Amino acid sequence: MELVIQNLSKTYANGVRALDNVSLTIPTGMYGLLGQNGAGKSTLMRTLATLQDADSGTAMLDDLDVLNQKETVRRTLGYLPQEFGVYPRVSASELLDHFAMLKGVINGKQRAQLVEALLHRVNLWDVRKKAVSSYSGGMKQRFGIAQALIGEPKLIIVDEPTAGLDPGERNRFYNLLSEIGENVVVILSTHIVQDVMELCNNMAIIHQGRVLFGGTPQAAVNGL
Ligand code: ADP
Ligand code: ADP
Repeated sequence: MELVIQNLSKTYANGVRALDNVSLTIPTGMYGLLGQNGAGKSTLMRTLATLQDADSGTAMLDDLDVLNQKETVRRTLGYLPQEFGVYPRVSASELLDHFAMLKGVINGKQRAQLVEALLHRVNLWDVRKKAVSSYSGGMKQRFGIAQALIGEPKLIIVDEPTAGLDPGERNRFYNLLSEIGENVVVILSTHIVQDVMELCNNMAIIHQGRVLFGGTPQAAVNGL
């Protein structure tokens, strides 16, 4: 599987060219998108998540036209936003059940099984009855992974995930992501070089909306 992005451009109404002819080929596995604040990472992530439109360009996940087949993408994409909205005071299992319903898992028994499996997967089973709003930052991120995994996504987008996480939580979060990334395309957007070096098989560096480098982390280091 492969995500092929071609000539993606986006200029905001205020004239900022956030994406300038971005072309990237992203294979299965953990892919790092590295760039400073303002580089265009979130714009690219939100565009791929069909949360906003680009001005031009294409993104194909094998045969899936990501920018145009929005319904399919939204059902099958896993998206972990930079900042989670305010969580309601409902328990993790209730909230996950709700999201599974929204993603089209209609059968109640099937949904209960899915929710249980996901909570075990991200190690939140023991705290499933607690309100997600009471979770620590790391627990919320792991809940985000569980939520992102509903619908067996082929593409998972993770936007600046580790802000505010302590090292232990960060490691747990990344170990989970790496396991998941074996079979799907996981794009990890971050400004932390070390995260990309440690976790990603391939990467790009983006600056002022342009791709400065695409390749392996090792090649990026050698090029510096
Ligand atoms: P689009 O072209 O996708 O519709 P707009 O350029 O119209 O986006 O901007 C959407 C909203 O974001 C506007 O209300 C705008 O004021 C606001 N906005 C402007 N500059 C920024 C910025 N640097 N970061 C975040 N939001 C911004
Ligand atoms: P990053 O995620 O790498 O920090 P962004 O995609 O958020 O980068 O931003 C890229 C550029 O686009 C920045 O200059 C930012 O200020 C601008 N920008 C982001 N969102 C908006 C918006 N809604 N309206 C106008 N400008 C925006």
